[in-house]
Amino acid sequence: ESEPVQVEVEVKKPILEHPTINVQVKRDPKIQVARLKLPILGEEQRVMELINENEFVIVAGETGSGKTTQIPQFLYEAGYTENKMIAVTEPRRVATVAMSARVGYELGLSSKEVSYLMRFEGNVTKDTKIKFMTDGVLLKEIQSDFLLSKYSVVIIDEAHERSMYTDILLGLLSRIVPLRRKRGCPLRLIIMSATLRVEDFTENTRLFKVPPPVIEIQSRQFPVTVHFNKHTYTDYLKEAFKKTVKIHTRLPEGGILIFVTGQQEVNYLVKKLRASFPYRKGVDYSSLINKKVNVVDTALDSEPDDIESDDDEVEKEMKRIRKARKKAKRKTIKLPKISLDDFDMPEDDGQPDLVSDGDSEGHLSDSDAEESTLTPIIKSNQQPLWVLPLYSMLSTTKQGRVFEPPPAGTRLCVVSTDVAETSLTIPSIKYVVDTGKKKMRIYDHVTGASAWRIVWTSQASAEQRSGRAGRTGPGHAYRLYSSAVYQHECVPHYKPDLCTRPVDHLMLTLKCMGIDKVVNFPYPTAPDRMQLRLAEKRLEVLGILEKVEMRNRRKDDEEVLKVTPLGKAVSAFPLLPRYGKMLALSHQYNLLPYAITIVSALTVPEVMSGKTDSWPATGNMLLLGDPGVLLRAVGACDHSTETLSVFCAKYGLREKAIIEIRKLRKQLASEINLSVSGVNLVVDPNLQPPDDRQAKLLRQLLLSGLGDQVARKISMAEVKEGEDKRKYKYAYRSSDLDEPVFLHSESILRKVIPEWVIYQEMYETGAEDRKKMVMRNITAIEPEWLPVYVPFLCNLGEPLSEPEPRYDERSGRVKCHFKGTFGKSCWELP
Ligand code: ADP
Ligand code: MG
Repeated sequence: ESEPVQVEVEVKKPILEHPTINVQVKRDPKIQVARLKLPILGEEQRVMELINENEFVIVAGETGSGKTTQIPQFLYEAGYTENKMIAVTEPRRVATVAMSARVGYELGLSSKEVSYLMRFEGNVTKDTKIKFMTDGVLLKEIQSDFLLSKYSVVIIDEAHERSMYTDILLGLLSRIVPLRRKRGCPLRLIIMSATLRVEDFTENTRLFKVPPPVIEIQSRQFPVTVHFNKHTYTDYLKEAFKKTVKIHTRLPEGGILIFVTGQQEVNYLVKKLRASFPYRKGVDYSSLINKKVNVVDTALDSEPDDIESDDDEVEKEMKRIRKARKKAKRKTIKLPKISLDDFDMPEDDGQPDLVSDGDSEGHLSDSDAEESTLTPIIKSNQQPLWVLPLYSMLSTTKQGRVFEPPPAGTRLCVVSTDVAETSLTIPSIKYVVDTGKKKMRIYDHVTGASAWRIVWTSQASAEQRSGRAGRTGPGHAYRLYSSAVYQHECVPHYKPDLCTRPVDHLMLTLKCMGIDKVVNFPYPTAPDRMQLRLAEKRLEVLGILEKVEMRNRRKDDEEVLKVTPLGKAVSAFPLLPRYGKMLALSHQYNLLPYAITIVSALTVPEVMSGKTDSWPATGNMLLLGDPGVLLRAVGACDHSTETLSVFCAKYGLREKAIIEIRKLRKQLASEINLSVSGVNLVVDPNLQPPDDRQAKLLRQLLLSGLGDQVARKISMAEVKEGEDKRKYKYAYRSSDLDEPVFLHSESILRKVIPEWVIYQEMYETGAEDRKKMVMRNITAIEPEWLPVYVPFLCNLGEPLSEPEPRYDERSGRVKCHFKGTFGKSCWELP
């Protein structure tokens, strides 16, 4: 008899191959000194050991700790570029260029070896070893080379930004990396992020079965005092200007960083600040340094406005500071008075930059320095502000200036959009002026049209922005809004980009990238799966996706929904696919100008208040229904010689709605011109209303996009005995509801009561006991059109022999008649 023996088996982690070469780099000693100050440098060995031993690694660290500039260098020195490249993705163009230039410079390599690539621009060569690119570019590369065989490492930078492309890349790479390993040539994925929400990546078992190791880079962050405004003013640019003036005239040396929302605002503030504190080339300003009071770490001034706190401690501190200040008897330089109205807002686009190009020393050229028309009074003892713009579309040379020290005696002041929040770290910033605002793309969930809106930043962004003041020493952050706004208006985080897009749009975008299983895709944060399933179904009905049989190694043949050629065309339109489809088809019939007006009008709520009588019509124009009324109303506004407000009042239109529609129409037109090849759409104010034939085509177009939202009149014969027939005058049967649905009380089609209609929206109205479903924005259709525009929902039998099939010369097809039904309820088709 033998005893059972316990044997301990050691499960060894399979060895992951890694390069063992050391590439020698000769760095400029100056660079070496600067590098040694970066917190990540002390961690080089730990970082490289983890990367060598793991396929997935997360590096989290404060902005400015050296992740983006140093980790590619570590990899280079460790031999990762010996026969393959390193890819680094950035969500922003500005960082792509700036970081490739910096890494190349630090390594002493040219742009031939450390290069960048983004849409429309790049400097990649056959010798490129480290390739910075926008996330969208890598995604494109995956579509032609799924295994990314050119790369040994992929670094996804700024993963916390959660851009749509970054999230998709992470999902794809979580599958590509194991495949590469099976092929015997491992690929490593390094996810780099600021210290935000790392758990979205580590706690997601769909993304990574085993949570990847996280390296946290501890970095020295100096204390930053945050000052809230007592009041929140709407003109935040004016506030930003005032605060910057105060900082510059009253507080000790140190760079100022101002956060605003966009390029236009950046240029505006740059212009105003330069005019107020001009810099002239050739003048020696060095004697102006340190002229100001030397009160370090103080609130800006004694106005209660600047600090809001019920904390006694703070109040005491303030008193102390005020006393100290009086003692110091500072000499403040009096500022020339400028009112905001002195300068016109620059135009939206085509705005020339105020920093001129072509001056390699980083000075302003003479012409710039002599902006005398903008300069009210120049006092010789006034310290100039060295004001620089920073935003995503700024040219490469101009971007670089923010990293160079300002001319002696001047103070650096960078006016930036949120690119300076985490992507770029500007040295020697001591003061941050934060408007608390940012631009965000907001989608309309009915049509999918999007607009840029200025919104409050998230609390996380506010913290990041403030942190920028504490990189080189203690700093101050001035938030130009109250702490109540921070607590009640600012959300802790914004949702990832991928989760804020309308699902139909997301579905089509992913399908176009060749991602078949959109519902089960390993998202870092998953959108609602039920919604995705419904979207997939809708797109199939609309003919944008179709079932394709796929061979599968494990199972039997499998059906997946793939994008159709029509779907490809539709995806280029920046709208929900059903509206994109209308536009894509209208393009064929030259109806695009009408179609974009209709779609814009359908996006804006409550355009008119009930006066459909003002818009009489006949024939197809009448049958085009409510979209037709909207089209004529908008057209009439364009043609009217009266002012818009007078015209709107007369015809019961909401003026703001018309303005919004015009804006949307313009924006849609320009987006379509950008993204759909061969289209050059002009919004023509002299466009004539559609004729009867065009109106008929427009009805068909609307059907092509709304074909899953068909309703049919309830015939009086269907109404049960004893029920009040009058109640059913406007009652319809929709394809997916048991209860009747009604024509909207303001629909122009109440005059017609057509048998078959399509609607844009359906909603519930009425008090608790008299609830009913109402259709809005209705168009009459002909049932014969259904097999043509909504074939998916038609069940047709064999072709009939009577009337006889006939050959149509124009289309070259044989036309025959069918008997069939439509939809789930099997409505009989004529
Ligand atoms: P992280 O990616 O962790 O936010 P970075 O690698 O971008 O940090 O930055 C590290 C340091 O390198 C920062 O202090 C930054 O100011 C500096 N730096 C980056 N680009 C330049 C440049 N072009 N000139 C001078 N310093 C730069
Ligand atoms: Mg970085």
